[in-house]
Amino acid sequence: MQALYFDGHSARATPVRLHVTEAALHAVAADPGGNAGAEAATAWQWPLTELVWPERTRHGQRTIELKGGGTLVATDAVAFDAWRARHGHRDGWIVRAQQHWRGVALALMLLVATVAGGYRWGVPLIARGIVAVVPQAADQALGDAALASLDRQWLAPSRIDAARQDEWRARFGALMDQAMPDAGRRLAWQLHFRSGGESLGANALALPGGHIVITDEMLALLVGHEDTVLGVLAHEYGHIEHRHGMHAVARLTLVSLAVSVALGDFSSVIVAVPVLLAQAGYSREAEREADAAAARLLRASGRSPEVMVLLFEKMGQQRDDKKKSESSASRTPNLPIAFASHPQDDERIRFFREAAR
Ligand SMILES: [Zn+2]
Repeated sequence: MQALYFDGHSARATPVRLHVTEAALHAVAADPGGNAGAEAATAWQWPLTELVWPERTRHGQRTIELKGGGTLVATDAVAFDAWRARHGHRDGWIVRAQQHWRGVALALMLLVATVAGGYRWGVPLIARGIVAVVPQAADQALGDAALASLDRQWLAPSRIDAARQDEWRARFGALMDQAMPDAGRRLAWQLHFRSGGESLGANALALPGGHIVITDEMLALLVGHEDTVLGVLAHEYGHIEHRHGMHAVARLTLVSLAVSVALGDFSSVIVAVPVLLAQAGYSREAEREADAAAARLLRASGRSPEVMVLLFEKMGQQRDDKKKSESSASRTPNLPIAFASHPQDDERIRFFREAAR
């Protein structure tokens, strides 16, 4: 077999003939005593166990990587493959599979399916396991950091005075007393009032550790409908009860870890978690669980879950009005964790109607 030998030190190619014996690959200079000089080596051998044979591909030359940095290059790939086959070489199944576009397409489909399946089922499953062993104290620390980050970026101080804020805290406290008389089973919650401003508007959200935020705009939207406001708060309490924030964080961390493994960049994994949490939002399943909690708490406190229907109607109206007035296409940024960004509406209206029966 004709080939060119590069010794790994100089760029000069030495034409050689290759042959294989039981344990070694031999190369003999095709023109001994030529320009190599009398004292230069004219024959080489390498143990077969130390060779990295080239993969068969449709195009291109064949290059054998040698220990110590040298290479053997066969420019006639067809002849090289035939020579290898004569010496009993058979391609591995991967090499054979990559010769066929069907094999490649199948592998690609399998890869996509594995990644999608891992994302859809694997990540939530592992996340649940992680959250189960994370102590509640971690929820508190993370929630505090997330609230601080939201305050910097999204929320403004409330214009509602302290006395009215306390009234709402007392009302929701009374609802919780009625709905869950066993105080030992209740989780601690703190009700915060903020202005949502242009970007968030009428909204509410829950963060790990018991933080519930409701915006002035939400209270304005629901003015005169106290039970609906309490229903919104009960929905947010549902997120806290199910630790949805922690689940979202665990999922995000897993995904960013997986991406970091793929890309080899770990710098951004942990630092941005509180910010990411706010941006990521809850899953549809989490929203259903929170809605179920809201319906349960409303009913158990002697209220009808039907009060929530009004909320979806009002928010729907507001969206329509906004669309009409926003001719300049100034799309407001969306905060997925917040109520107004949750999947709407018909399915949830139906849920609360049925829960009211
Ligand atoms: Zn929600």
